Amino acid sequence: MTVPTSASSQPASTSAQLFERAGAVIPGGVNSPVRAFQSVGGTPRFIANASGCTLTDVDGNDYVDLICSWGPMILGHAHPAVVEAVQKASTTGLSFGAPTEGEIELAEAIVDRVAPVEQVRLVNSGTEATMSAVRLARGFTGRTKIIKFSGCYHGHVDALLADAGSGVATLGLPTSPGVTGAQASDTIVLPYNDLDAVAQAFAANPQQIACVITEAAAGNMGAVAPKPGFNEGLRRLCTAHDALLIMDEVMTGFRVSSAGWYGIDGVAGDLMTFGKVMSGGLPAAAFGGRADVMGHLAPAGPVYQAGTLSGNPVAVAAGLASLRAADQSVYDALERNSATLGRLLGDALTEAGVQHQVQFAGTMVSVFFADRPVTNYAEAKASDTWRFPAFFHALLSRGVYAPPSAFEAWFVSSALDDAAFDRIAAALPAAAKAAAAAQAPTT
Ligand SMILES: *Cc1c(COP(=O)(O)O)cnc(C)c1O
Repeated sequence: MTVPTSASSQPASTSAQLFERAGAVIPGGVNSPVRAFQSVGGTPRFIANASGCTLTDVDGNDYVDLICSWGPMILGHAHPAVVEAVQKASTTGLSFGAPTEGEIELAEAIVDRVAPVEQVRLVNSGTEATMSAVRLARGFTGRTKIIKFSGCYHGHVDALLADAGSGVATLGLPTSPGVTGAQASDTIVLPYNDLDAVAQAFAANPQQIACVITEAAAGNMGAVAPKPGFNEGLRRLCTAHDALLIMDEVMTGFRVSSAGWYGIDGVAGDLMTFGKVMSGGLPAAAFGGRADVMGHLAPAGPVYQAGTLSGNPVAVAAGLASLRAADQSVYDALERNSATLGRLLGDALTEAGVQHQVQFAGTMVSVFFADRPVTNYAEAKASDTWRFPAFFHALLSRGVYAPPSAFEAWFVSSALDDAAFDRIAAALPAAAKAAAAAQAPTT
């Protein structure tokens, strides 16, 4: 029997076959852009199943998962308590379009954990949460303009796509065709971590700014924590100018502590947005905040917001089970695991002689190939992002699944175990060497 020796004679992987088939009926072959591996090249892995910290693709390859579905899976995959809650909820009806007790319990769980949140509205995605929060802020204040920060991502809301992070950054899009000038013109985009710029924008637009929206700690340009005093300064400026502060905790909420980033710096948003972890991996998200502001929402008030599947009983059950299972031991494990991951990354890159910054925002981690700490999007873009594809693929081929973009945070779960860290430690030296050997593009 002859064994094929050249790469070209290898049969295409099942992932490659599926990606080709997907491309015929799904734009770019994926339902969310970063999944397509466009900025790192190669074939995205189609996932067959997952358990704990391990993903298994359709070709039977195992990976240590450092994406965790882009945040939600802090407990790891197929956690028994969450699976049981979903199974139980699904046998008693999938959707009613009428209120259920579980929705109150999930709202209470959020209110109990995050002190500034007095009332909560459940929605289906983080995008819906931020879109609704901005509409409510405009309705409440009677003003039109909003301030957002370059490199922060708040979902694909038209008005919030300007200079956004996440997939918008990964694909290098300035903003997006299809967003009208009118939708974008009320959005003032400022550099992250620059309080003077915010003060100037308020001064230049008196009585016009409805809200400032910020990631409580930026995770969508890579992990970039707010500088000491930045969030406090936003709070002060918003209060002084009668604008609302929207703390977007879709990524940080219930991940970096049981009270999210609020549990770390104690800066209260008038409105706060949540998603990812609170969904348990099903489509659910929320926004909440001051009762006097939330009271402006229909049907209590005039600002319209609705959803056929909002508060879906199965999604609510998954979210509640996840939050209940996320006890102190889980948060301790997340702290330990992110510290260990960060140390392994730093050691390997130092050993290979690559200039780098391992940055943390709470338990979110990321690597920048830069010679000094990255504090905003301009600095993130100026880093040696061209080293990232080689680094990424060397990890992937050794069974470590990192985010396929230089502008995304890496997510740990409490399910990472010694075997997973052994695998990461074994993969990193070659990956660091690949990053060191990468060639800068000639311009
Ligand atoms: C992921 C994310 C969103 C959007 O949530 P989706 O559920 O993807 O719509 C909004 N804000 C932040 C900070 C996020 O990380």
